[in-house]
Amino acid sequence: MVRVRFAPSPTGNLHIGTVRTAIFNWLFARKHQGTFILRIEDTDLQRSNAEYETSINDGLKWLGLSVDEGPDNSGDFGPYRQSERMNAGIYQQVAQQLLDNNQAYYCFMTEAELNAERDLAKQENRPYVYSRAHANLSKEDVQSRLDRGESYVIRARMPESGTMTVKDIIRGDIDFDLSLESDFVIMKSDGSPSYNFAVVVDDSMMKITHVIRGEDHISNTPRQLCLFEMLGAEVPQFAHMPMILGSDRSKLSKRHGATNVVDYRDQGFLSHAFFNYLSLLGWSPENSEQELFTLDELVS
Ligand code: GLU
Repeated sequence: MVRVRFAPSPTGNLHIGTVRTAIFNWLFARKHQGTFILRIEDTDLQRSNAEYETSINDGLKWLGLSVDEGPDNSGDFGPYRQSERMNAGIYQQVAQQLLDNNQAYYCFMTEAELNAERDLAKQENRPYVYSRAHANLSKEDVQSRLDRGESYVIRARMPESGTMTVKDIIRGDIDFDLSLESDFVIMKSDGSPSYNFAVVVDDSMMKITHVIRGEDHISNTPRQLCLFEMLGAEVPQFAHMPMILGSDRSKLSKRHGATNVVDYRDQGFLSHAFFNYLSLLGWSPENSEQELFTLDELVS
């Protein structure tokens, strides 16, 4: 059973590039009689805003992208807002499991110490990888630092060498050199989960089968694959979609025209015309000049 998710962060209005990802997820779900899930990724409480969640919902509704499971719909895998999942202690619980299995560890390094490491790497002209200085602190040392109330993050223990191959449905196999991957932060010092951690916890708990998202997330994927492995979770298939660029080949922004989906509605564009146009960006039908499609044709 296909289960896909659209996982926007409500830190801005629904962007035209973002909604294209939603359209492909939705079409794929409908084609396979699958489930289209809306997950609101609002763990960055400073930048997230309920007003933007409304803009996301308005845009989806205008385009007819019906949500099967999400904050405003029923579903067995909720809550569907990461802030609510955070308050329910879901991420803390999984982080604790990784700590108990020695797949993650406390890191008490200060910002100044980390900056010094980064500066040194720069001076020596090498890519920065966290030194793992706190990867093997004794249990007693960790406990006494915690008792003293030292600030900490929790890091995932990544393989120190080897190659990780991301099998991408669109791009094919992409190899990553694991010696260049740091033991990355899964829980931040304020107790909130990092993006890479929250997304894997949620994708596995929500039983996502296909992760269809923008190609700006490819470089995150090896970390996420390692986390799926650590959790013993089923790994979804990945499809990273090319970004929509402006004619100057930079990421589409307000300089190029309206980027807020709802602005197109307010300018009088027809919903289906807008949907049709975005659906055809990035590919074209073989041996055909067809430019207008019914919804059923787009689904198939
Ligand atoms: N919240 C992420 C974003 O908006 C989602 C990334 C993902 O689909 O994994 O970029």
